[in-house]
Amino acid sequence: MKPAPFIYHRPQQLSEVLDLVAQLDNYKIIAGGQSLMPMMNFRFVMPDHVIDLNQVTELNHISKENQQLHIGSMTRQQAIYSSALVQEHIPLVTQAYSFVSHRQIRNRGTFGGSLCHLDPSSEQPCFTAALDGVIEVASQSGKREIPIAHWTAMYMTPDLAPNEIMLGAKLSIWPKTHGWSFMEYSRRHGDYAIVGVAVLVNLNAASTIEKISIALCGIDAAPVRLLNTESVLINQAADESAIRLALGDIEKLPNIMEDALNTSDYRRHLAKTLTRRALLEAFERAKKRMS
Ligand SMILES: Cc1cc2nc3c(=O)[nH]c(=O)nc-3n(C[C@H](O)[C@H](O)[C@H](O)COP(=O)(O)OP(=O)(O)OC[C@H]3O[C@@H](n4cnc5c(N)ncnc54)[C@H](O)[C@@H]3O)c2cc1C
Repeated sequence: MKPAPFIYHRPQQLSEVLDLVAQLDNYKIIAGGQSLMPMMNFRFVMPDHVIDLNQVTELNHISKENQQLHIGSMTRQQAIYSSALVQEHIPLVTQAYSFVSHRQIRNRGTFGGSLCHLDPSSEQPCFTAALDGVIEVASQSGKREIPIAHWTAMYMTPDLAPNEIMLGAKLSIWPKTHGWSFMEYSRRHGDYAIVGVAVLVNLNAASTIEKISIALCGIDAAPVRLLNTESVLINQAADESAIRLALGDIEKLPNIMEDALNTSDYRRHLAKTLTRRALLEAFERAKKRMS
């Protein structure tokens, strides 16, 4: 399959990109092209203009500022997976990338491309939700920040205005003593998750839960944070009783999505099984780091 004809633009600077997105109609940004090119080849998407971000080096970076890691939208997934800075400060992300696709795709695929493609089963919006990510976007009229909880406008559609692009995201760094876990189930290694779960936990000296974050993918259009569970678990022991509380809340989740292959009951079953395993792993890691 070949894409419909389009005009190709290759800006070198962010300011040129912002000029183009302000002027052009029916354009598409291309980042790694791993999702956009198949959609263009199948003619699900037929842009008149394609704006390539690959020369815009200012969008490719990983840096630590205060208690946050900043990741530019054009940072390759493989660069994040192999980053020592990421491994040191947000090991959840390193573990999550071990499930993302294959090296060849991660070499091209970008963090921003995944956040904008917004597949409900992707690990990347899911860990961004667990880490209270804040997405930075820009247009000619300036920049704005969108908390991940407000990023999904609808199915596979981020809350970007037509003249805006994603610059990057800020992910919160948890205390050195925190525990983490990313678990998922997919039919083959490297496929999108059917369901995935990200857990972060910090314990206090008495081994009770000081802070916890639980996010699921493959459940709804946006990653689902178990906010009610998180608040109930504060000051609870990090043990089976905490796990039972979390699984009880997953049992009550309304409207879990389904498709031709996976029913909502099956996804709920996976969410419970994986959350149990992820909580156990995160608790164990936190206890080890506290001792
Ligand atoms: C075989 C295969 C297996 C895969 N498995 C997984 C997996 O297990 N988990 C997973 O998460 N992903 C998986 N992917 C998807 C992969 O991670 C893609 O790289 C990702 O979804 C899109 O990133 P990209 O950089 O290639 O973006 P592109 O394909 O270039 O763009 C995707 C969309 O985002 C928009 N966009 C990109 N950058 C910006 C920006 N800065 N501002 C505004 N809009 C922008 C584009 O216009 C387009 O609509 C898989 C892909 C393939 C081909």
